[in-house]
Amino acid sequence: MQRRDFIKASAVLAASAALPGCKQATGSFSDDLILDWRPYTGKLKYTFTIATYSRTETPLVLVRLRWRDYVGYGEASMPQYLGESTDSVTAFLARVAAEVLPRFKDPFLMDAILSEVDALAERNTAAKAAVDIALHDLVGKILGRPWWQIWGYDAALTPCTSYTIGYDDSDDVVNEKIEEASWTKVVKVKLGMGEEKDKRMINLIRAKLDTVICVDANQGWKTKEEALDMINWLSERNVSFIEQPMAKEDLDSAAWITERSPLPVIADEACQRLADIPRLKGAYDGINIKLMKCTGMREAHRMAEMARGLGMEVMLGCMTETSVAVSAAAQLSPVARWADLDGNILLANDCFSGMKLTDGKITLNDKPGIGVEPLTPFEEL
Ligand code: MG
Repeated sequence: MQRRDFIKASAVLAASAALPGCKQATGSFSDDLILDWRPYTGKLKYTFTIATYSRTETPLVLVRLRWRDYVGYGEASMPQYLGESTDSVTAFLARVAAEVLPRFKDPFLMDAILSEVDALAERNTAAKAAVDIALHDLVGKILGRPWWQIWGYDAALTPCTSYTIGYDDSDDVVNEKIEEASWTKVVKVKLGMGEEKDKRMINLIRAKLDTVICVDANQGWKTKEEALDMINWLSERNVSFIEQPMAKEDLDSAAWITERSPLPVIADEACQRLADIPRLKGAYDGINIKLMKCTGMREAHRMAEMARGLGMEVMLGCMTETSVAVSAAAQLSPVARWADLDGNILLANDCFSGMKLTDGKITLNDKPGIGVEPLTPFEEL
């Protein structure tokens, strides 16, 4: 048996074994919450390089949660730095199927279910997000409403998404990426490679595009003075904000930079979960919320509302993800000032349809849950 087939078989076995009496094989409906999953390799259109590493594909795990005749979809994306893998995610999902879901017959007990999932392990945030997204999708479908509407948001207020142009040493490759980004209203650039390389990237883009640029230093700038010099230089080049200028642990430097910066400074690596936000107030102007960091839609919603309550800006980000996780994050986009939800566009093999862009602006649909449809039957992924 191939390793991939074995993982698939194990997933179904683990889910079935945990749920004696479930009727998934016969097609009749069960009150059990039935979880299964498929490992999936996300292929990137371009090699993706940031200050800390390069890659050409991303391991993903797509998740399905069924209850009666309703089906919810979720996803875990595992970029290297999160410390999760296909094995760690599928092992965690097997525990959710065996230890948490058999004790619940009512998917509306979302808070209790997701609190128990969170308590299973300290980390595994992407695996937790996969379950959380699938449960939100399922409950939204039972209610017949999309989550942006359940949360009471106005779908007209969505921002444009930025589209990321990753670093490359070749001018030709960068120019090709710039060409591909010509549709977007906001370009995101990954800097933090050193002054010469950073300025070269901005100059190459500015030679071809006059759209707004947002800059992500990914903790790459080494001193607060270097960071502020770069920010001042960038502020004269139609840049809208700066993400994570220095190391996530260095709150004092972040506060020093934010106090002097002509541009808003946003925490990304420094802001993983809800509990991080209060200490970031004053050190950063805003936070970048990502479902894979924060365990999913439940906590992302709480983070957005806490940030707004503290007078901080909300940005939404993503990993390289299919339309499942991107559409889930997009449900919150009406309260985000900025969105970087381009993970599905960076993929060459998105296997779902969902949130669309209209002239770069996030366009939420009226479909219930997270508003996605599989392009390939789940069993065949
Ligand atoms: Mg970032």
